[in-house]
Amino acid sequence: MSKIIITIDGWSSCGKSTLAKQIAKKLGYVYVDSGAMYRAITLYFLRNHIDWTDKKEVTNALKEIHLDFRFNEKTEESEMHLNDENVEYVIRDLVIAEKVSDIAAIKEVRTFAVAQQQKMGTKKGIVMDGRDIGTVVFPKAELKIFMTADNAVRVERRFKELYDKNPNVSIEEVKSNLEMRDYIDSNREVSPLRKAEDAIVLDNTNISEAEQLQKALAWVKERLKGK
Ligand code: C5P
Repeated sequence: MSKIIITIDGWSSCGKSTLAKQIAKKLGYVYVDSGAMYRAITLYFLRNHIDWTDKKEVTNALKEIHLDFRFNEKTEESEMHLNDENVEYVIRDLVIAEKVSDIAAIKEVRTFAVAQQQKMGTKKGIVMDGRDIGTVVFPKAELKIFMTADNAVRVERRFKELYDKNPNVSIEEVKSNLEMRDYIDSNREVSPLRKAEDAIVLDNTNISEAEQLQKALAWVKERLKGK
C-alpha cells in the first residue's frame, strides 16, 4: 500500500506527540518528534555556553552537533541522541523549555533542523509533530492536522507530566512557560506557528485519546483512498 506523510502541528502540550505516536504505531509508520531536535540543540547551547545572539558562534556550534533518533526496544519508542548521548530524559526539563523557543527562533537553527527533518520524509510513511511541519517542512503532506485545546487543560496536562519527574515544579511555572512558548513560537519571524490552510483542526479539550485517534485514522483512510 502506498504511504503518506502526516503532519501534526499546534500549541504546546496539546497532546500532539501522544496522537502522533499512536497513529504511527497503528500504521507502522515512523514517528518523529521535531521538538526534541530543538530541545537537544538548546541543551548543547546551554552546556557549551554558546552566545546565541552571535550568528557566527551559532553557525560554528551547529557544525559540532549531531542529532539522531534511536529506537529503544524496551520502551518501543525513539529516543533523541545528541552526539551519541541519549538525552531523551534531560531535554524534557523545564530549564530547557525556558530557552528552547528563543533558540528555535534563530534562522540558522531552523535551517539546520528542517533539512534533517525533510530528509527523514523522503520515503514517506512518517508522522511528524511540531510547529511548522505542515507549513514549512512538508507543505505537500497528504494529511495535516492542527491541534488545539483550552489553555487550562493544556497546563494541567503538562504539569502532571513534569510533576511525575520533579515534584518541586509549580503549576504557575508551567503555565507561564506554556504561554511564553506559544507567544514566541507564533510571533517569531522565521516559520511562525500557523495553521496550514489545508490543515484539519482538532480540538481535543473535550474528547478522549481514543476518540481523537479514531478521527485521525478516518482522515488517514480518506487520504489513502485512490492512492
Ligand atoms: O514540541 P515541543 O514542545 O517539545 O517543542 C519545544 C519547542 O521547540 C517549541 O516550543 C518550539 O519553540 C520549538 N519547535 C519549533 N518547531 C518545531 C517543533 C518545536 O520551533 N517544528
